Amino acid sequence: MVPASAVETPGVPSSVLDEIRSGALEKAGAEEVIEWGFERFAPRIALSASFGSPEGLVILDMMHRIDPGRTRVFTIDTGRLYQQTYNLIDRVRDRYDIEVEIYFPDPERVQKMVREWGMNLFYESTENRRLCCQVRKVEPLDRALADLDAWIAGLRPDQGVTRADVQSVEIDEIHGGRIKLNPLASWSHEDVWSYVRSHEVPVNALHGQGYPSVGCAPCTRAIEEGEDARAGRWWWENPENRECGLHVAYEGHGSGI
Ligand code: SF4
Repeated sequence: MVPASAVETPGVPSSVLDEIRSGALEKAGAEEVIEWGFERFAPRIALSASFGSPEGLVILDMMHRIDPGRTRVFTIDTGRLYQQTYNLIDRVRDRYDIEVEIYFPDPERVQKMVREWGMNLFYESTENRRLCCQVRKVEPLDRALADLDAWIAGLRPDQGVTRADVQSVEIDEIHGGRIKLNPLASWSHEDVWSYVRSHEVPVNALHGQGYPSVGCAPCTRAIEEGEDARAGRWWWENPENRECGLHVAYEGHGSGI
């Protein structure tokens, strides 16, 4: 992610860029950031929710309270998710009476990848793990973003070293200069769970079993008391590498896949 002042963004009105560059939105509350996004981008704005962290569900609940008709949410089914995550997707569909826009990886790319590198390639090296994330997550995300001008994510700075610089509103250069909203950028872990409890937001059942963050089943484990919240994701790698590529840019091998 680059500072908003460093790039020009085709397709986004200069008045919107000026608002972002002024920094005023960094002082706005979460609901204000969502309303700002709705007013400028709907219907070409949607929430990206993993259904494996409470943050996305909190934002979805807020979006729905602000304007159900403008509430769009998409997710990526990597093919390796927990049953509890699928259960939650259906609970959310029922609770909010909305369509969850689900994207799948390209089956031919998955097939080629696992034939060449094995079903559990991600444990072999960071390079292999990033290849799997590229095929199963990053490429479907690119398709999900294709008809959007702005997207919303649940990133917070205290989620790990890879997210320390998160801002409420950013120009997402790695995704074509789209606008990316992180309405919870100033929220703490306690703020998130307080909202979940007070609004009875549905969350992943695995959070109650020691999983603060739920991703793909082979790449997620429960954490011990006192461990960092991201310690259960790709735990065999260095903390600096623990992103799937949805929110950061990096090169992976296997360009033919
Ligand atoms: Fe593959 Fe693991 Fe990334 Fe899921 S989290 S896409 S299984 S490497």
